[in-house]
Amino acid sequence: MSIASPPNIERVLFTEEQIDRRIREVAAEISRDYQGRVVKLIGVLKGSVFFLTTLARYVDAPLKVDFLGISSFSNKSGAPGVVRIAKDLDESIEGEDVLLIEDIVDTGLTLRYLLQTLSGRAPNSLSVCTFLDRNSRRLVQVPINYRCFEIPDRFVVGFGLDYNQLYRNLGYVAVMKPQT
Ligand code: 5GP
Repeated sequence: MSIASPPNIERVLFTEEQIDRRIREVAAEISRDYQGRVVKLIGVLKGSVFFLTTLARYVDAPLKVDFLGISSFSNKSGAPGVVRIAKDLDESIEGEDVLLIEDIVDTGLTLRYLLQTLSGRAPNSLSVCTFLDRNSRRLVQVPINYRCFEIPDRFVVGFGLDYNQLYRNLGYVAVMKPQT
């Protein structure tokens, strides 16, 4: 189904077809790499939900799913990247092959926090799969095992990514018009 672009959209970066094709490619890589193992996808609420559910359907391996929710806020001096877990996983990941699913890695601060937290819970392995990567804004180096798309330094919405909780349900990824 095609929905008319909302007025705040400047241009489409990735169409539904491009997204679907790329997710299938990444899912094929994951299926190869996790052959003979059970992979546990951990989604970070809420942005990664759309990506995770599409990816999961294309992965050809026994698969479990769990979610965690985070809140991030600025510290007193206004610096970003103070993150805490607002909703924890339902189950232990001890001994499991965990694949953390992100919507976008930007500064890397959120991912660094999540990797530190999850690695302390003794998984058998811990890897990262992100839908979008904005490497140009990285503040801390973080390992990324699978990425669908590299994006320019513009705020994007769609396919799970929001602006004030809206636009998550767009089937494509788009650049927002600068907000005045
Ligand atoms: P990081 O900690 O890597 O700077 O930020 C990661 C989080 O910032 C993402 O999970 C996402 O919630 C938010 N974020 C960063 N860039 C964008 C963007 O272009 N669009 C949207 N909707 N969220 C973003």
